[in-house]
Order: sequence, then structure tokens, then C-alpha cells
Amino acid sequence: MNNKKDSNDILVKFSDVTKKYGDLVVLDKLNLEIKKNEMVSIIGPSGSGKTTVLRVLMTLERINQGIIYLDGEPLTHMPEKEKLVFADEKYLRKRRSKIGMVFQQFNLFPHMTALQNCIEAPIEVLGMKKEEAEERALDLMDLVGLSDKKDEHPSRLSGGQQQRVAIARALAMRPKVMLLDEITSALDPEVVGEVLNVIRSLNKKYDLTMIMVTHQMGFAREISDRVCFFNEGKIFEQGPPQQLFDNPQNERTKQFLHAVL
Ligand code: ADP
Repeated sequence: MNNKKDSNDILVKFSDVTKKYGDLVVLDKLNLEIKKNEMVSIIGPSGSGKTTVLRVLMTLERINQGIIYLDGEPLTHMPEKEKLVFADEKYLRKRRSKIGMVFQQFNLFPHMTALQNCIEAPIEVLGMKKEEAEERALDLMDLVGLSDKKDEHPSRLSGGQQQRVAIARALAMRPKVMLLDEITSALDPEVVGEVLNVIRSLNKKYDLTMIMVTHQMGFAREISDRVCFFNEGKIFEQGPPQQLFDNPQNERTKQFLHAVL
């Protein structure tokens, strides 16, 4: 039985998070809570801060104000002399391994085979034994339908296949949350479906918490528990997909959906 909707635990929490580039406020006192096992899509106009949400959660970018929690613990901050201060790079690196991210440009290691791409971080970062990492990576290759390509280098794989390796590689770290940043945007239209199918089956079979930035409105509607409409670094409107797509309340949401649907 699928019990994924039963959890009320908050896994990710953005509390009044502000991110600026120079004077440009990209995230504006953002509050966002993601429950365990929830599938959340982030949609909105270009430049509204969607990718930045994922990048600050992945700790690739530092926030200027506020705090982000992962599983009840501060992610962006560390304790120092009984106070919480912004975490240093060493601390962030440790926490980062709990989060899996798949990028628009697959970012695979070009000199490694598909399988090697999936065992590198579990061995180097988690200290997993090679045999165990390989066994798990083989299962993941199977899961993304690429068992027969495990010994190929990325340059010999199609875009869709490379992206499926990237998904397997992120899962190999057993992340608490998976972040998907426009993962089909760089793909030829005919292979978009194979990547979406992998996400669809992961969502059905496993209790994964996923946050997905996407332009694929049909897919967001089908797969999400909740859709957040971003504008100017804030959530203008959010709700279950049917509600947000069929009966948006906010004028800006209506305009955006009118333009893209
Ligand atoms: P979205 O994903 O919604 O298109 P982004 O989160 O990528 O938006 O970017 C939000 C804003 O931040 C944009 O105006 C973008 O130009 C700016 N921005 C993003 N990254 C940087 C950066 N490294 N330096 C300066 N400005 C940036």
C-alpha cells in the first residue's frame, strides 16, 4: 500500500530566507515547508527565483538572511558558542551529501563510465565499500533502465540516457530529498518522455521527497502533491495541482498560466 500521503513530518523548512545577488533580491523572506514524501513542483516566470531555491537548499549558494532546516536541524547554520551562525564550507559539505540534485546539464564525470559515476561519491563521501557501492549502483542502473549501458562513458550515451544516469547517481547517495532542476530542458523532445517515466516510476514505487522546478505543466499537474507558483522571489500561490491549474486565485498566477498553457 502506498502510504506516502500519510506523513505530516516536515523535512525541509525555509524560514524567512532572503537571498540577494548584490542589490538584487532573488528570494524575499521566503517561507516554505516540504513534508516527508511530498512531491512539490515549483513553477513561475523566468528570473522568479525557482532555481535559486534549489541551489540554496543544495548549499551551493549562501543565503543572506533567515535559516533553512533539514529534518529538524539547521542546514545553513551551525552552533558556535551557544549561538547559531552561518555554516562554513566544511560543515556545508557534510550536510550537502543528504541532498541529491539533478541539473539541467547532466554534469556527469566524462572520464568515468555510467557505473563509475554512480559509485564515486558513495565510496569517497560516505565511505561505502566498493562492492556494496557497486551492488547498489547496479540496482539503480536497473531502476533507470540502463543496465546494458553501465560500462559506457557519457559521450556514448544519448541526452536522455545521461540524464537517467544522473538521476541514478543522485539516488546512490540515499538522499533525504531529491532536487530536480528543469531536468528535461536540455533534452531533445523525443527523449523527454523516458526521463519523465523514470521520475514517474520513482514517485510511485518509493517514498521519495522531491522538489522539482519545471516548465512541464502537464507533468507537474500529473505528479505533484503540491504546486508552488513563484514570482519575484516569493510564493504567490500554492495548492494541489487541480486547484492551482484549474482555479487559480491570484491574478499573476492566472496571467502566467494563460501564457504558458
Ligand atoms: P528562475 O530559475 O526562476 O529563472 P533564478 O533563480 O535562476 O530564476 O534567478 C533569479 C534571479 O537571480 C535572476 O534575475 C538571475 O539573473 C539572478 N541570478 C541568478 N544567479 C545569479 C548569480 N550567480 N549572480 C547574479 N545574479 C544571479
